[in-house]
Amino acid sequence: MNRSLLRSRLVGGATGAFPGEVVVATGFTWPGRGRVRCAAAPLLAESFSRRGVPVRSAPVSAGADLAVGSPVGHGPGAGLPPDGEVVVAVSYLHDELPATGFGVSVAAADSSGLDAAESVIDDWAAVLRTRRLLVADVDGSCPGSRRAEAVIHEAVRSAAGPVAVVGGPVAVRRAPGTPRVPDLRVVDELDQVAEGTTVVFPAHGVRLATAAHAAARGLTVADATCPLVARACANVREYAGRGDTVALIGGSDLAVTATLVDQAPDRVAMVQDRADAEALAADPRRLSFVVVPGFPVEKAAVLVAAVRERYPRLRGHRHEVLCYAASDRAETVGSVAAASDAMFVLGTPEEADCREVSAMASETGATVHVLSGVADLRPEHLASVATVGVAVTRSAPPELLTDFAEVLSGLGPLTVARRSTQTQAGYGEAADGGGRSLAASVSADPGW
Ligand code: SF4
Repeated sequence: MNRSLLRSRLVGGATGAFPGEVVVATGFTWPGRGRVRCAAAPLLAESFSRRGVPVRSAPVSAGADLAVGSPVGHGPGAGLPPDGEVVVAVSYLHDELPATGFGVSVAAADSSGLDAAESVIDDWAAVLRTRRLLVADVDGSCPGSRRAEAVIHEAVRSAAGPVAVVGGPVAVRRAPGTPRVPDLRVVDELDQVAEGTTVVFPAHGVRLATAAHAAARGLTVADATCPLVARACANVREYAGRGDTVALIGGSDLAVTATLVDQAPDRVAMVQDRADAEALAADPRRLSFVVVPGFPVEKAAVLVAAVRERYPRLRGHRHEVLCYAASDRAETVGSVAAASDAMFVLGTPEEADCREVSAMASETGATVHVLSGVADLRPEHLASVATVGVAVTRSAPPELLTDFAEVLSGLGPLTVARRSTQTQAGYGEAADGGGRSLAASVSADPGW
């Protein structure tokens, strides 16, 4: 046994545990080690629940060792008080940090409860160690959605009447500490709003007819359309206006795609994959492309190249209006996964965003586990894992990352690091620390 790891049975408990029940310590004091933090208590409680053992969690008082420094035997043997409780305890000390560990209190006469406690403690003690938690700093927001949030908050703050967002989903962050927008209506059509309503156009924009309808009714508009979306829409109209077919490079499932198609419905053709690129039929002298904002730039570059193989005179989208949000997210997740011994994706496994992020992590060859709650974490997930990677997806409850870090900190000293990738691109729109223009960043060049 590692000398910083101490395991024993202690007299005490005083939890009122009845035979057949176990009580997981939320904290206890170990003579000689002081106060022991038990942040991993929810993990142990879940292990007992899975075994069908009645369990509750409570502070535990622990007294003298029953078997100081010796391996723990099984059964309610010699030295245990006949009608008291025994605490099976493990603690881990590192440097000057407070001890962390676990304790489970069982009625002294409860041999099966004691066996269950020993077994669960065995499982979790095997993964007690110092660790690093590497957080992929991707919260699902992007510059455009953050700008939209600000517009929505301002509209709610300043509007005299009701406020409605046209054509959700609405990307209002739910991160802890972020003010929520109360009673915000989301409507599909302007017919659903009364006169005097302030209507917000979301980050992915609205159809031309919707904008015209709002103007005709004299409704106050707070336009939160992302500037990159607005530029892409303008490009579609421009290219269609000069008589070109416009290949929309990207996924049709993105909300912004409908806005783009609406700009010139008779002149656009979707290119979502290589098959679309090979099936595209257009006048070779009159073909342009626009990358759907929100679609990863690197994937778009592959599709643009495929189209250009067949249409060498392809014209299109300027680099400075590309959206790198999806690319940066994928890069961040991939980088964290590649640097980790195990990658945890927080969210609902069936949800599209969660599946997508899991795929990003898996592409690196990482071992990936999806957790919808900390109760899903198993000891085997952490065997030999020193660096834990984690990415939060859109379906994860806001508190899940904090809870995950908290229970991990109960499995040994934990340091937390965050990593993110942010591409900067643009002609003179960004500057480095010396105030010089970064202009079209070479590293951000998608290569078309
Ligand atoms: S275009 Fe990019 S930055 Fe703008 S809202 Fe869409 S994903 Fe966000």
